[in-house]
Amino acid sequence: MDLLNTLVDKGLRRELPTREEALAVLATSDDELLDVVAAAGKVRRQWFGRRVKLNYLVNLKSGLCPEDCSYCSQRLGSKAEILKYTWLKPEEASQAAAAGVAGGAKRVCLVASGRGPTDRDVDRVGKTIAAIKEQNEGVEVCACLGLLSDGQAERLKDAGADAYNHNLNTSEATYGQITKTHTYADRVDTVQKAHAAGLSACSGLIAGMGESDEDLVDVVYSLRGLDPDSVPVNFLIPFEGTPLAKEWNLTPQRALRILAMVRFVCPDVEVRLAGGREVHLRSMQPLALHLVNSIFLGDYLTSEGQAGQADLDMIADAGFEVEGAGTSTLPAHRSDLAAQAEAAAAPAGGCGSHGGGAPVCGSAEPAGAAEAAGCGSACGGCSGHAEAAPVRAQADAGGVRSDLVSVRRRGAGTDIAPNA
Ligand code: SF4
Repeated sequence: MDLLNTLVDKGLRRELPTREEALAVLATSDDELLDVVAAAGKVRRQWFGRRVKLNYLVNLKSGLCPEDCSYCSQRLGSKAEILKYTWLKPEEASQAAAAGVAGGAKRVCLVASGRGPTDRDVDRVGKTIAAIKEQNEGVEVCACLGLLSDGQAERLKDAGADAYNHNLNTSEATYGQITKTHTYADRVDTVQKAHAAGLSACSGLIAGMGESDEDLVDVVYSLRGLDPDSVPVNFLIPFEGTPLAKEWNLTPQRALRILAMVRFVCPDVEVRLAGGREVHLRSMQPLALHLVNSIFLGDYLTSEGQAGQADLDMIADAGFEVEGAGTSTLPAHRSDLAAQAEAAAAPAGGCGSHGGGAPVCGSAEPAGAAEAAGCGSACGGCSGHAEAAPVRAQADAGGVRSDLVSVRRRGAGTDIAPNA
């Protein structure tokens, strides 16, 4: 297929596809699916070989959020029967993190519900980062605490954070239908603050909220404009008790097409398969490893994933390997850029110190600004949604599989051993 040959050539050259090409990937038929996966797989292997990076989530503070993100089980007014607890102590968080590291995770993602951290919260997380790094030599720590105020990214960096996550989640045009308590522009601002402080930026999306193909392409191009090092792709988990509980829009085939499109638009970026993979990809999960180079190990923030051992078995059975702690995730050209950005970030400047000008990710539409805020990353994946009206009808809706949604009852915030 000419389209796929063109996309492979562009991916190998780190060249941006056109919007039409990205849309065409989403429009391919199920009969073409294996060709699409094979093509995107060539790009994935060019930049990441057969390595799979494992990340481990620790929910530092669960539920009771004042924000209204409609996809989220921790939102204001959520009736989802999730675990609710306030800040874990540093030693509790470190204990949970250690389980993930023992299972093969090289990055620990510290997430807290809420609009954004107070300065006291930043201090608290700084102590947690220190405890984790003391117990787990060489581990990467990513913080995901919501919207950052001036100076907080720098303080997290000084405290030892390696990365900061804050997702854009959906297109600028539809953001206001998903969340009303903050704006898309707020979210963009926080990703830029993380960049400017020399933190590795992680920012992704949630698919399956009723968005159109154009919305998906919009948010992925906006992400590319922001130039994060990692892009988590969440598939909505429609939690009962949240506004989007009835939004079962995804099929495994649709999920794979979305992952392939993200890989073509962000060829050399860490594309991470995040929340919702078990629920929406189901037995097709191993195919996704040909598209992404990173997954979460074990459980999510408020829902349970498959057993950590099943994740490891899946990776081995599919012919991939867990990325070791001593291996750089990103290709050398991106690692070099990151190092330069970090060096330049000392006093902090505008945005884009990182990708600014890099051919890799920097192109396309500037990450528009609009509205939004709230916490970030994996929140989207693991939570659910609720009542906000779906943005648009989905072309290939999947079936309701609420039987696959399992609220987390183990690990952080409980007395039961974590899944890792
Ligand atoms: S996504 Fe984050 S900010 Fe939004 S409701 Fe959930 S926990 Fe709160």
